[in-house]
Amino acid sequence: MTSIATLGSHCALQVLKGAKDEGFNTILVCEKKREKLYRRFKFIDKLILVDTFLELSEQKCVSQLKDEDAVIIPHGTLISQMDSSQIESIKIPIFGNKWILRWESDRKMKEKLMIESNLNVPKTIPNPKDISSLVIAKRHGAAGGKGYFLTTSEKDYVKKRDKLIAQGIIKGDNDLYLQEYAFGVSAYLQYFYSPLTDELEFFGVDRRYESDIDGLGRIPAPQQIDIDLIPSFNVIGNIPIVLRESLLDEVYSMGERFVDAAKKLVTPGMNGPFCLEGVYDDNGKFTTFEFSARIVAGTNLYVDGSPYSTFLYNEPMSMGRRIAREIKKARKENQLTKITT
Ligand code: AMP
Repeated sequence: MTSIATLGSHCALQVLKGAKDEGFNTILVCEKKREKLYRRFKFIDKLILVDTFLELSEQKCVSQLKDEDAVIIPHGTLISQMDSSQIESIKIPIFGNKWILRWESDRKMKEKLMIESNLNVPKTIPNPKDISSLVIAKRHGAAGGKGYFLTTSEKDYVKKRDKLIAQGIIKGDNDLYLQEYAFGVSAYLQYFYSPLTDELEFFGVDRRYESDIDGLGRIPAPQQIDIDLIPSFNVIGNIPIVLRESLLDEVYSMGERFVDAAKKLVTPGMNGPFCLEGVYDDNGKFTTFEFSARIVAGTNLYVDGSPYSTFLYNEPMSMGRRIAREIKKARKENQLTKITT
């Protein structure tokens, strides 16, 4: 009997609830400090308690997961807690394509895949000397927006960079990636691609609620100028959105181009959930500044289904449940190796 396992954070509740609804045994790899929280939820059958998530590579944890015939569902916490080589060497089947997670974490590879997908991508600024317009400085990896800042000149960049170094948030220039700031309203497009049916499903869209940038608008301009704050983009939660219906055709096209490019560049391709992240400008044109090659936390909004999943399924379908259903179908058709790596 296959079990579904994930790490205790990010979207674990949604993933395991969906797995239980599809009839799976559910396992949570849980840090001891969070045990009390996760014991509250009866759809979690088993907790494997660890001091840190790095224990996922250790024999004790691996053999427990193997005994349960577990498939691991990767999410943002896996990427932020383990580096790409550690993830690639996990000895348990990982849902989707674990090799593409390296393309999510490495800025250069990420840019390559987005360009190959023919997405409209903001320009990268190779050197702080080249800053001549509004630029966002971002940290590498899944930093969740913490320590990001906006700048318009090299002088201002150096001042803000040094402040973050003094606060111990970054070590130096190498920790930062500079990208042209894209104007518009943000939208995080959530998809699921099934290699079993070769079909792409658009699942939902959200925007992030980020501290402190989203709080700044509540402070009048004179006080904004008075306070010496480098506003961060740290994600606190997510807000649902529905798009103008006229935008949907391009949403599907972008997703399909991404799936095609991933098939070309990183075998076996973009299997399972992913997200294209960016902004719509005043002409409804989308600029993609990021992608996530696995389930995103914004899908937590739609545990009972989203306005888009409702058009595809006649029952409440969360992304977590959709993943479980894919595993169920693959298992029935003896195709588990097609949807795991
Ligand atoms: P990320 O880690 O790239 O998802 O970025 C965190 C947040 O920074 C996003 O949710 C956006 O609010 C903002 N952001 C990142 N890149 C850009 C960009 N190129 N233009 C505008 N906003 C951005």
